[in-house]
Amino acid sequence: MTLIPLQTKADDSWQQQLRDAIRSPAELAAALGLEPSRLGFSAQADDDFAMKVPRAFVGRMQPGDADDPLLRQVLAGSAENAPHPGYSDDPVGETGAANPVPGIIHKYHGRLLMTVASGCAVNCRYCFRRHFPYGENQLSRREWQDAIAYIRADTSITEVILSGGDPLVARDDTLSALMDALAAVPHVTTLRIHTRLPVVIPDRVTPGLLRAICRPGIATVMVLHSNHPNEVDTTVAAAAGRLREAGVTLLNQSVLLTGVNDSADTLSRLSSALFGAGVLPYYVHLLDRVRGAAHFAVDETRARELVGELAVRCPGYFVPRLVRESSGEGSKRELTPRYPY
Ligand code: SF4
Repeated sequence: MTLIPLQTKADDSWQQQLRDAIRSPAELAAALGLEPSRLGFSAQADDDFAMKVPRAFVGRMQPGDADDPLLRQVLAGSAENAPHPGYSDDPVGETGAANPVPGIIHKYHGRLLMTVASGCAVNCRYCFRRHFPYGENQLSRREWQDAIAYIRADTSITEVILSGGDPLVARDDTLSALMDALAAVPHVTTLRIHTRLPVVIPDRVTPGLLRAICRPGIATVMVLHSNHPNEVDTTVAAAAGRLREAGVTLLNQSVLLTGVNDSADTLSRLSSALFGAGVLPYYVHLLDRVRGAAHFAVDETRARELVGELAVRCPGYFVPRLVRESSGEGSKRELTPRYPY
């Protein structure tokens, strides 16, 4: 681990970039040099889940390409409006019994999720939490204390997973206070952060953030979320480098998405780009069956074939585990094919 510098000029630019995210189809079309009519934007889909795209992410899209794989992930499109049986607002069972106190989602043994922030830097159209009642999980100071008390009372919990929304939308002082509270719980040994922010706004990885999330005695693991090799440019690699230098273990999870990354070549290039940035491919998820996202689904048979092709092309550490999450199950279900066939 190296010493973390006190300040850089980029320390708060990420907050401005959050505020400046593109929300209108006209602006998105203009940024890409496209006629607005070519975008396929749907106001109905946007009403259901508002479009939001940071400019740093738009900058990695191919100008003039209405089918750009990064654009497809963020555009509120008409395909979202068609009803599909089996697709629901809560596809993995995060409300009810799994939500014992506000801000806590406790489904698996030994670990639980804290929803630290109610928003994200980007609104991914396939997100399984696109209908999650974040408003009911905004923590007051009292509820925050209740959530920490819940963790303290259950000595089986060794890992706390910060999720959201995107937990890195939270300010550094908020994250630092949370880390202080968790560090005071003797049985919590690992902090895991699931985030897309270092990918969509790499400037989020500031010295202030590193000071907030790195503590002696607690291992910090960050699971990035990127789906396509074009997402991983030099700015993302530099952000990953800053995290690694601070001692953060970096993994990546993807979602298998039709029209985005449903080819072995794309998955192979994604793994290569991630590895080059010091990030290990960890999971590739089958799409959670959330209402509005059915057009992204890749069926299980095809998903197994893709991961099998990837295993033939690449070293084992380039091959993420293929998983599906189902409501009520004690862990994710692994679907990675076994070799040889
Ligand atoms: S960043 Fe993650 S939680 Fe936020 S919308 Fe995208 S997939 Fe969902």
